[in-house]
This record gives sequence, C-alpha cells and structure tokens, in this order.
Amino acid sequence: MVTGDAERRDADVAVVGAGISGLHAARLLTAGGLDVVVLEGRDRIGGRTVSAPIGAGRQVELGGQFVAARYQRLTELLRELEIDTFPTYDDGENLLDFGDRRRTYSGAVPPLPLLALAGMGLAEWRLNRMARSVAPQAPWTARHAAQWDAQTFGGWLQQHGPRSGQARTLLNLLAGTVWGAEPEQLNLLQALAYAAAAGGLRQTAGVRGGMQERRIDGGPAQLCAALATTAGEIRLGTTVREIVHPRDRVDLRADGLIVRARHAIVAVPPALVSQIAFDPPLPVARDDALRRLPAGRVTKVVAVYPTPFWRDDGRSGQAVSDAGPAGATFDNSPPDGRPGVLLGFVTGRRATAFSALAAAERRQLVVAQFRRLFGAAADRPEQYLEHDWAADPFARGCYFGLAGPGMVSAVGDLLEQPLGRLHWAGAETTVASYGGMDGAVLAGDRVAAEVIASP
Ligand SMILES: Cc1cc2nc3c(=O)[nH]c(=O)nc-3n(C[C@H](O)[C@H](O)[C@H](O)COP(=O)(O)OP(=O)(O)OC[C@H]3O[C@@H](n4cnc5c(N)ncnc54)[C@H](O)[C@@H]3O)c2cc1C
Repeated sequence: MVTGDAERRDADVAVVGAGISGLHAARLLTAGGLDVVVLEGRDRIGGRTVSAPIGAGRQVELGGQFVAARYQRLTELLRELEIDTFPTYDDGENLLDFGDRRRTYSGAVPPLPLLALAGMGLAEWRLNRMARSVAPQAPWTARHAAQWDAQTFGGWLQQHGPRSGQARTLLNLLAGTVWGAEPEQLNLLQALAYAAAAGGLRQTAGVRGGMQERRIDGGPAQLCAALATTAGEIRLGTTVREIVHPRDRVDLRADGLIVRARHAIVAVPPALVSQIAFDPPLPVARDDALRRLPAGRVTKVVAVYPTPFWRDDGRSGQAVSDAGPAGATFDNSPPDGRPGVLLGFVTGRRATAFSALAAAERRQLVVAQFRRLFGAAADRPEQYLEHDWAADPFARGCYFGLAGPGMVSAVGDLLEQPLGRLHWAGAETTVASYGGMDGAVLAGDRVAAEVIASP
C-alpha cells in the first residue's frame, strides 16, 4: 500500500459509500456505540439518489425516487424518521404516442388494435405465470431456472412474444423504463424475479399498486440527510482506491486518508467495487460476479413549468412513446402541484445516442417531445434539468446491476456473504428486494447486524 503523507485514522468500522445503504448501516452501527467513518468519493451524500433545487424551497428528484407498494422496509424506515410520502400523480388520461399517432386512454389497457392487444395479453399472461414460479429471494431455485438464466428477455420475446409490431414496441419500452436496457440485454430469470417481487409484469411499470406508487416528500435527499445526521463521521471527496484485508484488520487507502478499521462495509455499485484494488485479491467467483453486473443506461430529463397545465386538460402526465427521446413520462410535481414538473426517462440505446448530442440539442428534443405530447404550453419550460447516469463516474449506469447470461444461478446470494472482515451492502446485495432503495435499506440492516455480531 502506498502511504505518502496521507492523514491516518483508526475506526471500529469504515463504510465505503454514502448512498442510502452505507448511510443506514453507519447509522445503526453508530447507534450501537461503534466509531464509524464513512468514505464517500463524491462531494455529496445520496449516491444514486439526488435532488436538484427548482426554487421556492422545492426540489426535483433526478435519481431514485419511487416508493413501490411492496417496499415494506423502506416505508417503515421513512415512518421511523417521520418523513412523509405522497401518491404519485395518477389522475386523468394517459397517452400512447406511436410515431405519427397519439391516443389517450384511461386505466391500464393501451388503445392498441385488437390483434396487438390479444398478443400483448397472452405474452403478459405467460410471463406472469413463469414469474409466479420464481421466488424473488432465491430465483435460482425455480424449476426452469437454468433454462431462463441462459436466455434473454429479448430472446424469449422473439420466440414466444406477440407478432404485432406495436405490442413488441410496447414491451421494448417497458424494458427500457423498468430496467434501463434493451430486452436483448436482460437476463430472463432476473427480469422474472423482478416481476415476481413487484407482483406481476404490469406492476413493474405501474403506479397504483405498482413500483411507482408513492414518492418521498422532499425527495430521497430528505431520507439521506436524516440518516447522515447520526451516521458517524462522513468524509466527502474521499474515493477509496485500495483495501488491504489481512485476518485481523482492514486498511483502506482513500484520497488523502488512510483508515485502519476492525471491519469495513463496501456499499458501492458492483461496477465500482471492481475499480477498487483488493489485497489479497477477491476470490475469482466474487470478482467475476461483480464484473458481470453492468447497470443499464438512463438519462432522467425534467422540465419545470409554472403549473401542471396538463392536469387542466384531463391528462395524468403519463405517456409511453416510441418517438423519443423519452420512452415514458410522469407528472413529477411536488405534492401541491406547484410548480408543474414533467419527468422523462431516456433509456437503453436511446440514452446512448442522446448522450452523444450537444446539451442544447438534447433540451430542444425533449421540449419538442413534451410539446407533441402535452401541447403548446410545454414549449417554454422555466427550467430544464437532466442527469446522465451512465456518464456519472460514481454510478456508471443505473438503475442497478443487470445480470449477464447464467449469472443469476452462478452468483446466488454470494454478494450478500461477508469475506473475513469485509461486509457487503448496496442495493445489489439484497436478492429478495434487488436493486432499489428498499434493497439498499435491507442490506444496511444485514451488514450492521453482521458487524455487531462479529468479534
Ligand atoms: C435514475 C434512477 C432512477 C431510479 N429509480 C428508482 C426508484 O424509483 N425507486 C427505487 O427504489 N430505486 C430507484 N433507483 C435505484 C436506487 O436509487 C438505488 O437502488 C439506491 O439509491 C442505491 O443505494 P446504494 O446505497 O446501494 O448505492 P449508491 O446510491 O450507488 O451509493 C453508493 C455510493 O458509493 C460511492 N462510491 C462509489 N465508489 C466509491 C469509492 N471507491 N470510494 C468511495 N465512495 C464510492 C458513490 O459515490 C455513491 O455515493 C433509481 C436509480 C436511478 C439512478
């Protein structure tokens, strides 16, 4: 380990990463009387959750934000911290924007031709039946696990999906919105496990009863700020480069700081664990697993208006669009609807092409799309904001790590298992509630209990 003249510090526990998972673990351990230092590479806390100010004390979420109907542990933690949630705006008509035609509709069934609807319905029914045979806490135990783990969602759609082009487009857009990837980049077993945990394929992209059901008042920034107040010492701008872990201690070399700790918790996304040098090196199975969990590609785009004018036209602000750049939109206004905020998800291949454009062109394309969807009033947003998560060096994509072929069974619950004095948190280390804020909290619970129970 190169030491130079870096500051040195001893601690009971060093936590790498000040996202929800690392902060929650640090808070529990601090409450248990341990000396905890959190090392964070960014100049802010929150990781894959971040809010941007939009004036008058209001904020808009540019990262993780929705509290799913099934997120029990996250909901419990928010209650404990006295942070309110509110329902995602879901009144009025939705829009289906297929190139030259835009149609409004109510409820969950899009206005497709009968043949397309039948094909879509059959595919959904079959996928849901498959998902019901997958236990979210152990997907690799499903009877057909090996077969589905070796296939992609796109491959399955090619073979068994609807023939109708429109129905296929809709399923491609669903994959982009839910996983940030194209269907052919998605492990079928992982997609089924995610759908099983959500309560069905429709719920993965749904608002009422689905993954987009509620939002956090003040955004997840509120949650991270509350966790941080009792999370021990937090050192920002302190990227951990190397972790030396003999049997009796852990030495972490970060920018300008060396920490010697009894235990370390690594709470960073898989792609970023792979950038840290470990001595001794990680066992090959873990190293391999971490390298085969690249995240999807998403740019979140947001336009702020004086009011949510689309509500006056009886629109929910929700649209599904194949004309891009956003594949899906939501009304992301604060609970009182002041100001009006439209949110779009630019995902998968579109996100890659979008990122290559100049900033002014990106803004112009998004505003033109919002105008096409919601009318001339969308033409002049007071503010336009975006965050390209694939370009973010401390995320390298989002929403979470996507398993390569065969990796769900090969990895199992390996990423949850401690390795000597190294403990592993982060949203990708909770199999049962994989990839979201709920999983991040559950991982924090698990590692804190592990450390407290350790000698
Ligand atoms: C656009 C977007 C939309 C999303 N939507 C939702 C949603 O609606 N609902 C939901 O539940 N989830 C959503 N998610 C996922 C959710 O945000 C994450 O699951 C969750 O925030 C992960 O928390 P974490 O603590 O595990 O990891 P992170 O938040 O990624 O925290 C890890 C931290 O480690 C830091 N770090 C990395 N490497 C190092 C290093 N070497 N040294 C020091 N620090 C390092 C990073 O800077 C980061 O702060 C979304 C994510 C994104 C990006």
